[in-house]
Amino acid sequence: MIDAPTPPRFTLSPIGVIESDYPDKFGIPRQPGLATAARASLVLVPPFNDPLAVRGLEDFSHLWLTFVFHLSPDQADAERWTPLVRPPRLGGNAKVGVFASRSTYRPNRLGLSLVELVEIDTRRGVRLVLRGADLVSGTPVLDIKPYLPWAESRPEARAGFAPEAPPQLAVAFSAAASATLAERPDSDSLGELIIQVLAQDPRPAYRQGAETRTYGVRLRDLDVRFRAVAAEGATCMEVMEIVPA
Ligand code: SAM
Repeated sequence: MIDAPTPPRFTLSPIGVIESDYPDKFGIPRQPGLATAARASLVLVPPFNDPLAVRGLEDFSHLWLTFVFHLSPDQADAERWTPLVRPPRLGGNAKVGVFASRSTYRPNRLGLSLVELVEIDTRRGVRLVLRGADLVSGTPVLDIKPYLPWAESRPEARAGFAPEAPPQLAVAFSAAASATLAERPDSDSLGELIIQVLAQDPRPAYRQGAETRTYGVRLRDLDVRFRAVAAEGATCMEVMEIVPA
């Protein structure tokens, strides 16, 4: 066993907090960019909410966000971390090393997401308006870095057990759900968000195919109730009702 010296521990201060369409973890796509209708903002906190800190950032279209999976257990202590995790992409049973995964259960709970920058609002502090983020509201963000495609885009890279985006399922709305949606001022973007989120089949990985069970995913101020049904030989997501959360 290599006897590497134990490096010192570090204390990190969040520079901002996410406000997003996702009040809960359940239902959030497993990577950014899979639900481009998802709205999010990164609101910088004092003393980092200085407009000078984002001068020039408007010239970049995408950002790396480093953040804390604050709703996952803290595993930073040696006796609490687990070297193996069960990626949903492998059906939730097969195990891989935590460092071979993007699991939220990891020693320092650090997440990394590439998100699209839509707008920077510095009228009162600093608010970065984002598109396609995969972060629950309240997520503490530790750092922002501009994305450099010439250095970081590697389409030739091998991606192990996650070689491409997850399969997309068809999504249908019941008459009741369609009627509720039509009454909403945000009906267009909300309808798009519901389709993009449910198309990822947010159910636990071990749940496949049609089943009678009803699920609820929180989006914006709503609870979107859905189930998986069989349609033309495939599994389809049926939105049964949309109710205030
Ligand atoms: N793109 C990031 C990465 O690779 O580090 C996140 C990938 S992780 C698989 C995405 C999942 O993290 C989402 O589906 C959601 O359930 C979960 N998540 C989002 N924000 C979180 C938070 N603040 N705490 C814990 N889990 C969170």
